[in-house]
Amino acid sequence: MTAVVQMKSPPRLAIIVPCYNEEETLQATCEKLRTLLAALRAERAVAAQSYICFVDDGSRDKTWEIIARLTAEHDDIAGLKLARNVGHQAAVLAGLHECDGDALITIDADLQDDEGAIREMMQRMGQGYDVVLGVRADRSSDAWSKRFFAESYYRLLKAMGVKTVFNHADYRLLSQRAADALRQFPEANLFLRGMITLIGFKWTTVSYARRERLAGESKYPFRRMLSLAWEGITSFSVVPLRIVSVIGLLVSLASLAVTAWAIYVRLTGDYVPGWASTVVPMYFLGGVQILCLGVIGEYIGKIYMETKQRPRYLVDEHIAAHKLTAPAVRTS
Ligand code: UDP
Ligand code: MG
Repeated sequence: MTAVVQMKSPPRLAIIVPCYNEEETLQATCEKLRTLLAALRAERAVAAQSYICFVDDGSRDKTWEIIARLTAEHDDIAGLKLARNVGHQAAVLAGLHECDGDALITIDADLQDDEGAIREMMQRMGQGYDVVLGVRADRSSDAWSKRFFAESYYRLLKAMGVKTVFNHADYRLLSQRAADALRQFPEANLFLRGMITLIGFKWTTVSYARRERLAGESKYPFRRMLSLAWEGITSFSVVPLRIVSVIGLLVSLASLAVTAWAIYVRLTGDYVPGWASTVVPMYFLGGVQILCLGVIGEYIGKIYMETKQRPRYLVDEHIAAHKLTAPAVRTS
């Protein structure tokens, strides 16, 4: 009688790729990811039903047509079309919410983040980690300015008390239970890399060198980068409000000192009537007040957006990967 060796079946992996106007990169990205997936299947590092899900974030070019074609050509490709452009963070969240798998990995469509690190992420998961964060060890392919702003920003976040992992963006593995935990975060103001550290569970990092974009240009212009940066601070920290209070206190103390000085000068009789001492503090205080109101308004705006409880994304269409016995994409 032959002994039946009961082997633990490898985890089913879903690779989630947010795409916004990525017609130039999709084909190459798909090939590279499929090659990797085939190798991982052969190594029994992932289950045969593992798949790639491209999330079309309301692209205006041929992205969805290409995704639809890829799903028809290959068994292990799924597609999720969002009803409109909701931004990278919400697109990643949509993929995480709608895709099923024991492991969910999110990676950008331009493959600037080395897909080779997926193998190590899976190994770490095998060692019992629920969250594995990709960390850019070498960013020399990024423009000097982008690197400078990004790295200064991570430091600023730290100073503001926001817990994030230095040089980790949105390339990460989540176990199904970590992804389920993320579902319980209802916030509309999304900053995933901050939310991930709030989940807890056993986590680790893997590092890789960041590459050039495969093709096309960045879909993250400076304006969007600034807006994400601001989101990260204001959604996770009330330090700016505290800074406003401290500025208020300092300016009040300074005004008191100036008042004392004015009284002294008046009493000693040695004064020149002038407008500078009146007008300068007026403008200065006016500026400080408007700034403070702006910061407070920013937080009120956030509360306003949160209270609306609008859906963070809407699904227009989804195409499941064919080979799967279980649906690749949740239908609810
Ligand atoms: N992206 C998205 N929605 C957007 C903007 C970008 O889904 O509104 C996707 C984009 O297709 C890519 C990823 O987010 O897969 C990162 O964008 P990009 O590579 O342009 O940013 P960068 O690497 O320059 O920061
Ligand atoms: Mg990129």
